[in-house]
Amino acid sequence: MGNCCRDEETIEEIKELKSQLGQKLLILTHHYQRKEIVELGHFRGDSFELSRRAAEKNEASFIVFCGVHFMAESAAILSEPGQVVQIPDPGAGCPMADMADADVVEEAWKELTSLFGDKSIMPVVYMNSDASLKAFCGRNGGTVCTSSNAERAFRWGLTQGKKIFFFPDRHLGLNTAYRLRIRPDEIVVWESNRQSGGVELARLKGARVILWDGYCVVHTRFRPEHVVEMRERFPGAKIVVHPECTREVVELADAVGSTGFIVNYVENAPPGSTIIIGTEINLVDRLAHENPDKNIFDLYYSLCPNMFKITPEKLRDCLREIGGRNVISVPEHVKKDALVALNRMLELPHGS
Ligand code: SF4
Repeated sequence: MGNCCRDEETIEEIKELKSQLGQKLLILTHHYQRKEIVELGHFRGDSFELSRRAAEKNEASFIVFCGVHFMAESAAILSEPGQVVQIPDPGAGCPMADMADADVVEEAWKELTSLFGDKSIMPVVYMNSDASLKAFCGRNGGTVCTSSNAERAFRWGLTQGKKIFFFPDRHLGLNTAYRLRIRPDEIVVWESNRQSGGVELARLKGARVILWDGYCVVHTRFRPEHVVEMRERFPGAKIVVHPECTREVVELADAVGSTGFIVNYVENAPPGSTIIIGTEINLVDRLAHENPDKNIFDLYYSLCPNMFKITPEKLRDCLREIGGRNVISVPEHVKKDALVALNRMLELPHGS
């Protein structure tokens, strides 16, 4: 049997299993998932929208999360007791999340709080992180944030007069700090493999934002020369990029925002617009497909191999063994503290 027929059979079986399970099943899909997966889901979104959806009351007994592991883990923390969260491939991780090890972060925190006290510094962890780091933020008065609410999270701490200790993504942290008009000399990068983060005490004292040195391998592939080249090829085009891109790329773009923001940007653009997008290729391709009245191009081809690990076959296998295969479990004590930080994120004041 050819691949094409096998794929069709798999998709038909998924549809059949979905209809058998009815309201008991909720399939959540991230914007970076391949087209077939997004089409088979009940709801698509960025990590903030998906965590909101997982936290909302729903009748589903089973949530199948098509995304990477930290996202499914967050859904498991936010879901109701008794709901089971599964991921089609537990090996779909995130290299950026792995760049912040909980023990190394704790060590840095001890050093920082011994210098400044724990009342004058607030930990903020990006959603792209292990549950133990979310729990750490829950225990220490901090919050989680995503790329769509990082500004609100930073502002919440800054207006209380606190320094922000943000991990793991230095680029999202830097772009957020610049948007909040924090001066460059008030931002430092804590190099996680160096003694005292490789930062002089005087600089640390003056810092309002301290950034971990992690980064996304997918978004740091975009370079300023890609922006320059695309501007030459498409004069008049708009360039929109994700805030995990480097500062140099963001400065050359017309707009910056989360995947949810990028989707709205494209949908609200007038017909005939040309838009160049600097984010994961599956989202760019889907936006091009769904907006045939606009000219959508990628800034540069960049695929997240981990998001791509979720295939229709693996989704089908999960549905065949619903409630049993690749169930995400988070230890109760981690869950309790991580939930505190995730709920703080969901309740972040709009005006702060
Ligand atoms: S796109 Fe980047 S941050 Fe997102 S899952 Fe892939 S590697 Fe991680």
